[in-house]
Amino acid sequence: MTRYITRFAPSPTGNLHIGSARTALINYIFKSQYPNSKLYLRIEDTDKIRSTQEFKDNIISSLKWLGVKWDNEPQIQSLNINRHLEVAHNLLKNKKAYKCICTEGQLGIQRKKINTGEIKSKKICTSCETNNEIQSLDKGYVTRIKIPTSGKETLKDVIQGKVEVNNTEIDDFVLVRRDGTPTYMLSVVVDDHDLGVNFIIRGDDHLNNYFRQKFIYQHMDWEIPQYAHIPLIHGEDGTKLSKRHGAVNLIDLKNDGYLPSAIINNIILLGWSPKNQDNEIIEINNIISQFEIKNLSKSASIFSYKKLDYFNNYFLRLEHNIKFFEAYCESNSLLKGYLSSDKEKLFRVFNVYKKDISKYIEIVNFSEIYFSKHFSKSHDEKFPEDFNNIFSEFLELIININKWEYDNVSLKIKEFIKKNNIKFPVLGKPIRYLLTNNYNGPSITDIFMILGKSESIERLKRHSY
Ligand code: GLU
Repeated sequence: MTRYITRFAPSPTGNLHIGSARTALINYIFKSQYPNSKLYLRIEDTDKIRSTQEFKDNIISSLKWLGVKWDNEPQIQSLNINRHLEVAHNLLKNKKAYKCICTEGQLGIQRKKINTGEIKSKKICTSCETNNEIQSLDKGYVTRIKIPTSGKETLKDVIQGKVEVNNTEIDDFVLVRRDGTPTYMLSVVVDDHDLGVNFIIRGDDHLNNYFRQKFIYQHMDWEIPQYAHIPLIHGEDGTKLSKRHGAVNLIDLKNDGYLPSAIINNIILLGWSPKNQDNEIIEINNIISQFEIKNLSKSASIFSYKKLDYFNNYFLRLEHNIKFFEAYCESNSLLKGYLSSDKEKLFRVFNVYKKDISKYIEIVNFSEIYFSKHFSKSHDEKFPEDFNNIFSEFLELIININKWEYDNVSLKIKEFIKKNNIKFPVLGKPIRYLLTNNYNGPSITDIFMILGKSESIERLKRHSY
């Protein structure tokens, strides 16, 4: 079986976005399907102005949180600059690249001619290559790659299928800038080659770059990897997924209380669906055994927050995921306070409300009333006569319950209602109000269970009539 070497190569110019997380995830799934295959993480930090340590840390921690695992330590692209330059020198030496000293003004004129169609080829410099004086300069030039002026290139992309581009459409792009720094286009190819990368999965916004980068491989006599360019993710209005649609960075989804398994479930179903599956819930191991990269749709997929909420509600209710709730509470200042004051109570709140929430952050509002230290002793609500008439007997009943367990308390309440021949809301609504300052909410037995016996009694005693 083929051994694949893949990589995920983010630029640390922002926090990890859902779209990039999907690229990383697909790389991880793919490499996990082939024994002895590898996934490397490379931080492409050559854009010194926009790259920051904070974004780098965010990308690494978001990937770890999502469950994407890579091999070896992350590679830092800027540490390999000398190697990138060595390859550029090699290309110059072998006349696969040339020195160019065109000024911005000259390039601007040429660009205009290309854009208006006056010149049919995208080659921006037409004179430096043949000028011996320029070619023997030892500084003050950019290094440009040589690209054929006729013929066409074909890519057999695993997802996009056959893509053809005329060589006239490919520009003589810069490999090394005038200040001696290598460009992304050069660095990415050199690093991928040196790592032995033979399968590149990345966003289809890089599809055009294939037709440039392939010439570096070709000129160096290096084997060209296979490519799978995955389509971008759009919001429900059909435009590229952005902040306007909702949280788009993993850190924001994490802070809202989404679970990695829900995010994975949601993003893997964008453009792919498992066979013989009666519902849409699928977890990573199953994805790894069923996913086929070649079956990924080549058109852009729509990201739905409603779907994400549905998956998240499913995963947060699973018993074994309670550890994620605890971790979430640790990271949220209000919940952290509740966690240290009464962890069991907080978990009881969660267990009662979990069916109604789509993300952990919603628990913050629900918890407040149960942890309120200043739960008002008095209240100005006037309750109906038929409730007031039975209240002391009900309080007595609650005080006398010894087995404070859900089924028993619920049974006692039912018996009380029957014995007094009243409709449930006559008792339930005011009791719920006394316990939570709200006529609506979970069953009163649930509320009793959250509060515990003594606090429930204390709250019920607020009743004055
Ligand atoms: N660093 C590039 C980016 O973040 C990815 C390069 C690649 O995958 O070839 O868009």
